[in-house]
Amino acid sequence: ANGRPTANDSGGCDVKAHFVFIPLMFQGHLIPAVDTALLLATHGALASVVVTPSNTGRIRPTVDLARKSGLAVRLVELPLDLAAEGLPDGADDVDKVPPSLWTNYFRALARLREPLERHLREHAPYPTCVVADFCHPWARELAASLEVPRLSFFSMCAFCLLCQHNVERFNAYDGVADDHELVVVPGLEKRIEVSRAQAPGFFRGTPGFEKFADDAEQVLAEADGIVTNSFVEMEPEYVADYAEARAMKVWTVGPVSLFHQRTATLASRGNTAAIGADDCLRWLDGKEPNSVVYVSFGSLAHAQPKQVVELGLGLEASGHPFIWVVKNAEQYGEDVVEFLHELEARVAGRGLLIKGWAPQVLILSHAATGSFVTHCGWNSTMEAVTAGLPVVTWPHFADQFLNAKLAVEVLEIGVDVGVTEPLMYQLEEKEIVVARDVVEKAVRDIMHGGDEGEERRRRARGLAAKARTAVEKGGSSHANLLDLINCFKFKVDAGCRPFGTA
Ligand code: UDP
Repeated sequence: ANGRPTANDSGGCDVKAHFVFIPLMFQGHLIPAVDTALLLATHGALASVVVTPSNTGRIRPTVDLARKSGLAVRLVELPLDLAAEGLPDGADDVDKVPPSLWTNYFRALARLREPLERHLREHAPYPTCVVADFCHPWARELAASLEVPRLSFFSMCAFCLLCQHNVERFNAYDGVADDHELVVVPGLEKRIEVSRAQAPGFFRGTPGFEKFADDAEQVLAEADGIVTNSFVEMEPEYVADYAEARAMKVWTVGPVSLFHQRTATLASRGNTAAIGADDCLRWLDGKEPNSVVYVSFGSLAHAQPKQVVELGLGLEASGHPFIWVVKNAEQYGEDVVEFLHELEARVAGRGLLIKGWAPQVLILSHAATGSFVTHCGWNSTMEAVTAGLPVVTWPHFADQFLNAKLAVEVLEIGVDVGVTEPLMYQLEEKEIVVARDVVEKAVRDIMHGGDEGEERRRRARGLAAKARTAVEKGGSSHANLLDLINCFKFKVDAGCRPFGTA
């Protein structure tokens, strides 16, 4: 009567399980969700990925290639009801949502529940599991109504998840008036200090998101488990402790970018790049092994014009070859555009500026690349680990400060540039935080750094080897993918529970 097949069967389809991924449509959430969906498909599952129209083009090339190679992946494109929430046309692309309308954007997302449920009921096979980004609390009602289990999806390290969880559950900031005062993260063996400004908790401290933050936490606490882009061998104690703290199964399935290691999808991962893959590879081929510094701050961060200039001058002064991804260069005004032109001319042959989307994983996995100056978005950090590269950590906001601490203090593969305060998407005017000489020194340290630098590089390479092993047959992430399918596969026996191994 409710459109549900009688025995949760596969509707005549020969896939083992049907996972419905509902990513948050920010690149840092969408890309790893798509990769995870593709990985499940390589193990015999059907994966449907829900996407809104402005984002379809970003992932379609990857999905189309995967389908051509025989993987069972579907895109479920559903429009957002923008008008109902007072959002302008095209605002299902987050780049077009002004911060003042973010609460509206999240409300519009929640309106996907009904049309998505209808779609899933009308298109066999029936889902066996919903995998929803933790930023979609409305997925709880969806999964409940469909009577299927629900997993919370993260692209975050367990270290960050555990630190945030412990800070909240042990009220670590209680009585701390100053947002910048450091407190020790409770419940960890290692001493890690963090301030409320650096790690406020998901959606905490964001005006208009007070109730949303509570809902998201509650919905996470009620999930049937967590899937995240990390791997056990990198942070075994944090994965185990987080699972224990949540009393929940945590499936680490990363590094998910390794899905692309033997596929043609590498260069088109996440978007159409502003440079051709061949041009990029040709440039890198002309450089010595481990000589190039790659500099990028991800898909969201937007630097102030002055910071762009200081960073450019610092890279120039470092004397190293570099690839620098400059997002929205044209928005910086004439002076900065002029500065970038002149810089490009001065460093021609040594410095490559990519104005727009870079084929990041392609660059990181090239032998000429020797280090990564990163904002420590989790995907970028994981991609650096996967490529065996030491990092200069330059966190901007959200989970990035904790990721930087993991890189520098736990994994010991990073040099910190010294930013202590978040720059929330660089919306407010702020003084330059990192001057040219600091950039220059950080780059020199990460590229040389004497014995310590060698040790960092050695540790980074060791982690990369472990990352590869994790996704291969017999590895922890490989086993977790198989386990997910096993736990959430079609049950042909009408009497059995819709999910779980019990
Ligand atoms: N990315 C890319 N090219 C770019 C910028 C970003 O391929 O020019 C990819 C990057 O490889 C990563 C993701 O986009 O997979 C960014 O996620 P991350 O968590 O690092 O940062 P965010 O963008 O969420 O701040």
